[in-house]
Amino acid sequence: AELRELLLSKIADVPDYPQAGVVFKDITPLLADPDAFGKLTDALAGVCQEFGATKIVALEARGFILAAPVAVKAGVGFVPVRKAGKLPGATLGQSYALEYGHATIEIHADALAPGDRVLVIDDVLATGGTAEASLTLIRRSGAEVAGVAVLLELGFLDGREKLAAGLDGAPLEAL
Ligand code: 5GP
Repeated sequence: AELRELLLSKIADVPDYPQAGVVFKDITPLLADPDAFGKLTDALAGVCQEFGATKIVALEARGFILAAPVAVKAGVGFVPVRKAGKLPGATLGQSYALEYGHATIEIHADALAPGDRVLVIDDVLATGGTAEASLTLIRRSGAEVAGVAVLLELGFLDGREKLAAGLDGAPLEAL
């Protein structure tokens, strides 16, 4: 409860960003506070161990900021998922729906293998589309989904429900 209050106190509401009517949750004050950022990444590393994960997958750009220190603290490998066209090697791609149009994300085809247990880390779970596409890439890589861990879940957008099939019983933790 103490951690939750600390983290919430470091997330700013930005009205009408990126468009009118949306309240964007800005995590940059949290990143600028080494005590809060350290406690957040300690907690996520604890989740990684609790879920028995052997790899962490995260999506650019804010996912990278959180996941990289967590991977080091937890002693597991970090695997980036990037927007289409950014990874140099052979890739697997997955398209998913945005509010308007669609996006494609990619992972290196050989980055994960059967036997890997993968934790997805991101800053915010909104509609769940991004995390769902990441889970699909993990399964298509032949690896197992250990779970999803986020800093903040926007419960009113029902992302948790959208992720249920992709999680297939694996846990979702929102700090
Ligand atoms: P979703 O696919 O769940 O709708 O959106 C989640 C993705 O969009 C995450 O990668 C997250 O970084 C970004 N996102 C959506 N809304 C917000 C927000 O209010 N604040 C932040 N920091 N990221 C958001």
